[in-house]
Amino acid sequence: MERKNVFITGGSRGIGKAIAKKFAQNGYDVIVNYVSENTNLEELEKELKNGQEEIRTLFVKGDVTDVASCTEMVEQITKEFGKLDVVINNAGITKDGLLMRMKEEDFDKVLDINLKGTFHICKQVVPIMMKQKHGKIVNISSVVGIAGNAGQSNYAASKAGIIGFTKSLAKELASRNILANCVAPGFIRTDMTDVLADSVKENILSSIPLKRMGTAEEVANLVYFLASDENSYITGQVIPIDGGMIG
Ligand code: NDP
Repeated sequence: MERKNVFITGGSRGIGKAIAKKFAQNGYDVIVNYVSENTNLEELEKELKNGQEEIRTLFVKGDVTDVASCTEMVEQITKEFGKLDVVINNAGITKDGLLMRMKEEDFDKVLDINLKGTFHICKQVVPIMMKQKHGKIVNISSVVGIAGNAGQSNYAASKAGIIGFTKSLAKELASRNILANCVAPGFIRTDMTDVLADSVKENILSSIPLKRMGTAEEVANLVYFLASDENSYITGQVIPIDGGMIG
C-alpha cells in the first residue's frame, strides 16, 4: 500500500509534537515545521521514529507568518514526497492581556501567527490536494474561540477566525474529496499553559468537570481520527476536547 504523509506546523514540541508522534506510530511519513533555532532535530527524529526506521521524516524550518517561507516549505515537501495527504495547522501563540491594556502589536502578532499562518499554509497546500483529489486538513482552534475568555480577546479572535475559515474551506473543497475540520482544545498541559500563574490554573481547573488538564496525547488522538482514513464523512466541524469545560 502507498505510504501516507502528514505535515504539521509547530510540530517540534507540545501538542504539535504529540500529533507528529501519533501519525508516526501509525505508519505515516512525518513532515515537521519548526521555527526556533535551538530545536534539537536529531533528538526529535529519534523520538518520532521510535525504532521504526522505515518512517521518513522531513524537518522544514519556517515562519508561518511569512508567505515566502511557507512557499519554500511546501516546495521542499513536494520535492521530497511528490504529494501531501494530511496537513495540521497547529502553530500558535498567546499574548494575553485585558483589552484596555492590549497593545496593537500583541493583537496583530497573535492574529498573524494563529489565523494568517493557517491561511498561508492552506493557500500553499490546497492546490496540491485539489490535484490529487484527496486530502485532510485539521486546524487547531481552541474552546476560547467558541466561548471567549477574559484577557484573551486577540487569541479568541484568532481561534474563532480559524473556525469560520475552516468551515468555508470545507464547503469549497468537498467536491475534490478534501475534508477540513477544527479541533478545539480546552486546557492542555504544554509550555503554553505552564507559564500561567498557579491561581489562574486553579481557577481554570475548577471550571473543568473532569477536574484535570488534558494531555497533548489526548488531543493528538482526536486529530489523528479526523485526519486518518477512519474519517470519511465529517467535514466543516469543530470538535471540542476540553474535559467538559464549555459544555
Ligand atoms: P506550545 O507553545 O507548546 O507550542 C507552540 C508551537 O507553535 C511551537 O512548536 C512553535 O514553534 C510554533 N510556532 C510559534 N510561532 C510560530 C511561527 N511563527 N511559525 C511556525 N511555528 C510557530 O503550544 P501548544 O502545543 O500548547 O499549542 C499548540 C496549538 O494548540 C496552538 O495553536 C494553541 O493555540 C493550541 N491550543 C493549545 C491549548 C493549550 O491549553 N495548550 C488549548 C487550546 C488550543 P517552535 O517550537 O519552533 O518555537
